[in-house]
Amino acid sequence: MKICIQPVGDVDDEILKFLKKKLGDVFGACEILPKMDIPTYAYNFNRGQFNSTLILKSLPKVCDIVLGVAEVDIYADNLNFVFGEAELLGKRALISLARLRPEIYGLPPNKDILKIRALKEAMHEIGHVLGLTHCENKRCVMSFSNSIIDVDLKDWKYCEKCLKKLRDRGIYLKI
Ligand SMILES: [Zn+2]
Ligand SMILES: [Zn+2]
Repeated sequence: MKICIQPVGDVDDEILKFLKKKLGDVFGACEILPKMDIPTYAYNFNRGQFNSTLILKSLPKVCDIVLGVAEVDIYADNLNFVFGEAELLGKRALISLARLRPEIYGLPPNKDILKIRALKEAMHEIGHVLGLTHCENKRCVMSFSNSIIDVDLKDWKYCEKCLKKLRDRGIYLKI
């Protein structure tokens, strides 16, 4: 399976390269596409945030799965913010690094923390594309994250139960 990472606007190169390596290991192949501009119509002036669904729908349908990665703050429906969004059993997923950065919580920048959080959110949204729904196991990467505390609590991997669901659909991963 091939995952293509689509940078949406300027995105931290170190994080993109880290995701490429890890997702390539897990899914078989991964490449980083040339960056695309953030669609300006996705910006909501009242909220000062970007509409995650509109960005998601603007991603190209290339490779088996496209993972959009943005730095801007995103929201969906009536949620204050989202870490990401995906098309369930579709082709496209999106994550934002904005709320994964320690700086936003008043802490010093930390690339290692940012990398692992980005990997967790990438695995989570890609899991939705592969048909997985939220998992009740708080350690599983498919558990729903309401806050950064939930993100930090979970592992970056799918639990045995979620992996079995994938295997039942013929998807074998190197985890
Ligand atoms: Zn989810
Ligand atoms: Zn699970």
